[in-house]
Amino acid sequence: MASEIKPTNKVIIFSAPSGSGKSTVVNHLLKKYPFLEFSISATSRAPRGQEQNGKEYFFFSTEEFERLISEDAFVEYEEVYKGSYYGTLKSEIERIWAKGHTILFDIDVKGGVNIKRIFGDAALAVFVKAPSVEELRSRLVGRGTDTPEAIEKRVAKAEEELTYEKYFDVVLVNDDLSTSLAQAEGLIDSFVLNK
Ligand code: ADP
Ligand code: 5GP
Repeated sequence: MASEIKPTNKVIIFSAPSGSGKSTVVNHLLKKYPFLEFSISATSRAPRGQEQNGKEYFFFSTEEFERLISEDAFVEYEEVYKGSYYGTLKSEIERIWAKGHTILFDIDVKGGVNIKRIFGDAALAVFVKAPSVEELRSRLVGRGTDTPEAIEKRVAKAEEELTYEKYFDVVLVNDDLSTSLAQAEGLIDSFVLNK
């Protein structure tokens, strides 16, 4: 944990059970607000599809990732899926703040709670959820990126993740998408722009 990093700027955290629509909301906000900058996480999982090192993630081997842990390079990290580490490098936070940008974190529910604990009032922690677990399952099926087994694993994990929503500042129920995007914009307008 980054006890020496001080919250000198605002950060926005988006966390959600997989399939809730978090990436859809985050990508919309990143397009709309040029002052928001996505925090590129480090991971020990392999790149998927067109993913590039330094764009979606910084990719490391498990050994390299564990060396970075021992060097205290992370603000937070989690083994989100068995055998796959994900974490936020302190250097990434410094890089984005040096540009005067507001950091937008897209991280798992436990990581989101940890970041909120570290940054306190300087952070707005948003928990995105689908209107029901059945709807979550049908979105995962509709997205078509996961096998039926992986979908059931994600749904089972969602049940546990939903117990964390109470630690977030705001719960955004992503039912009608255009309403959710407008609500998300409203959160940025008030928290960052004081509108
Ligand atoms: P996450 O990043 O939380 O895993 P995604 O943004 O990938 O979720 O969304 C999961 C799927 O649900 C995608 O196919 C997306 O297009 C769809 N989706 C997102 N928001 C909604 C919504 N409000 N209503 C219906 N489908 C949605
Ligand atoms: P994926 O493998 O699908 O890209 O991501 C899996 C999960 O890891 C997602 O819930 C994503 O938000 C989460 N994640 C990505 N980066 C980080 C991080 O730096 N820390 C934590 N705790 N979770 C992360």
